[in-house]
Amino acid sequence: MKISIVGTGQLARMLALEGWAMGMEFSFLDTLEASSTCVEGLGPVIRYQAGTQARELYQQLGSPDVITVEKEDVDTRLLTALQEYCFVYPDPSIIHICQHRGRERELLDSIGAPSVAHEKVSSVNELHAAIRRIGLPAILKSCESGYDGQNQWSLETQADVDTFTENVSEFTPSILESRVSFKRELSIILARGVDGRYSVYPLTENFHSKGVLLTSIAPAPNIDALLLSQMDDLVMRFISAWDYVGVLAIECFETDNGLLVNELAPRVHNSRHWTQFGADTNQFQNHLRAISGMTLGQTHARGCVGMVNILGRAGTSDIICHSNSQVHLYNKAPRPGRKLGHVNLLEQDRQRLEQKMNQMLLDIYGESEVKLLKNMQGFFRIPELQHDISQAY
Ligand code: AMP
Repeated sequence: MKISIVGTGQLARMLALEGWAMGMEFSFLDTLEASSTCVEGLGPVIRYQAGTQARELYQQLGSPDVITVEKEDVDTRLLTALQEYCFVYPDPSIIHICQHRGRERELLDSIGAPSVAHEKVSSVNELHAAIRRIGLPAILKSCESGYDGQNQWSLETQADVDTFTENVSEFTPSILESRVSFKRELSIILARGVDGRYSVYPLTENFHSKGVLLTSIAPAPNIDALLLSQMDDLVMRFISAWDYVGVLAIECFETDNGLLVNELAPRVHNSRHWTQFGADTNQFQNHLRAISGMTLGQTHARGCVGMVNILGRAGTSDIICHSNSQVHLYNKAPRPGRKLGHVNLLEQDRQRLEQKMNQMLLDIYGESEVKLLKNMQGFFRIPELQHDISQAY
């Protein structure tokens, strides 16, 4: 089975490493300027040049059986054209929806999935009008090219709004969202095969710092029957609306009124890296199984599992040497805040797991920085401040 992955980051790396073990072959497609160190040695990397025809590209990729993606920021017209030559999963029309927050919100509204109060805004005037209706604090998120808290601005007070509007040079189409005071962040993760059968992983609890995922724990503790039924309801809504193939994450906030969907990730995702060590079948294998028409593997958790991200810290692999742990490094050059790797931990006891995760955070970041990271849950600021704080990494 030959598989091509659009993108050359760590998700492509982990997909290919898993696939090699299953006898699959890989090629990768990315832009001219993208760094491809993550996939070094795992298959040829084809650089896309504007104007290249789909047929030529398909041949350059080695005539794959299936094409998939490791990111949403891809040319969906090109993917649609490639469907003439091989399978492309998930369907480009689904990626097209998820790569734009406006389209994603329309989809959520149309299938009745509860989400945060929001409005589309395309100008300063529309922003002011939306703030009058939604109120402050709010978050302004660019419709495109926004992930891990990028291209997002926290508007807590009128002074923040004034600073933002005074400094904005070009207003890109955005979504203004109410800032939710959530109890925690939970991911619903499912895999669906070509035959329509699907399997759902246990709910995962995520902790973000400054908009970037820092830790995950699965199965998420304190899940009551109401949350479980909301999860089932959301899964059914997506499964009925989409002919989805592959792994899908539905990122949610748990609030006093239950789950609110924040965003969708139609691909393998950081919040499910714990599955590599703590689930019967990890997300990478299940994604490959799904897109290649194989039967899906079991999605049970094998205990209490945690994942700690290594953000912008090189040379940490020596200090991460705990029992029941597994280290993944992505072969990336270190830069402040950059995702360089992660550690998975498996215990049978949740308290023990949490102690070990805290120790792991201290080993990687040191005491003062851990305090800072823990205080910055879902952190957003106006751009200048965002830049200042990022130096802390
Ligand atoms: P996103 O890029 O939308 O995934 O946002 C990154 C992180 O920012 C989320 O995981 C949350 O921690 C936080 N966040 C995003 N949207 C909101 C919101 N409307 N209210 C509160 N926190 C948010």
